[in-house]
Amino acid sequence: MKKVALITGSSRGIGAASARLLAEKGYDICINYLKNAEQAERLAEELQSHEVNVIAVQADVSQEEDVVRLFTTIDDLLGAVTALVNNAAILLPQTTVEEMSAERINRMMTTNITSYFLCCREAVKRMAIKNGGNGGAIVNVSSAASRIGAANEYVDYAASKGAIDTLTRGLSNEVAGEGIRVNCVRPGLIYTDMHADGGEPGRVDRLKSSLPLQRGGTAEEVANSIAWLLSDEASYITGSFTDIAGGR
Ligand code: NAP
Repeated sequence: MKKVALITGSSRGIGAASARLLAEKGYDICINYLKNAEQAERLAEELQSHEVNVIAVQADVSQEEDVVRLFTTIDDLLGAVTALVNNAAILLPQTTVEEMSAERINRMMTTNITSYFLCCREAVKRMAIKNGGNGGAIVNVSSAASRIGAANEYVDYAASKGAIDTLTRGLSNEVAGEGIRVNCVRPGLIYTDMHADGGEPGRVDRLKSSLPLQRGGTAEEVANSIAWLLSDEASYITGSFTDIAGGR
């Protein structure tokens, strides 16, 4: 069966590593990005070497009309999505809850939660057996922050990821009978540019010695779990949580 994967936020970081690995495994790929067209197009070009179809589509996944356009573009150019990696998210500068504006909190929740719900909705419409689909698999990228809370750094981000854990639990039960598996990965300290957006580019190196494995993780180590959870090797796994956090 044809495999078509959408990886949201895949111009860089964990999303880009997942797109690379899934292309290697024979999926047709939709790279999604917000602003970084150049990096997304460069990655799309690189992935063509795997002889799979690759498109790069700009869409702000926190906006309903963009998500609908993203999925219909994939329908038209690649065929309906069979694998969704909900990955796009933001981190805002470190602060305390005492200092958070409603504007910041709402932006965090819309970008990190509403987007995952909307993409799940569009994927389920296409995958569900009752709608004529062939089933499929979804991996939600949450964070170890959902368990830890990220005090004095970004409790808003941690709370947004708590919602993703609950979405995974609830949706996995809702769509299991439709041939759709929904799982979650929770990375810890991973070397990507996201930490610079949080105001501390060197955060992984500052904190790595506190981890049992005493090092930061790589985007590729997260991608390995994502690709496995999407694959038929994980066919009896749904509603699960994989912590990729160096033992924390
Ligand atoms: P990253 O390097 O900051 O990349 C974020 C990606 O999301 C970029 O491709 C960006 O696109 C895209 N994006 C942001 N807002 C978007 C929007 N509204 N619509 C569409 N795309 C959007 O992030 P990362 O570190 O790889 O993180 C990926 C996932 O892992 C996130 O869910 C994050 O919360 C989670 N995670 C990361 C870590 C870590 O240590 N890095 C730890 C735990 C969990 P542009 O480049 O075009 O702006």
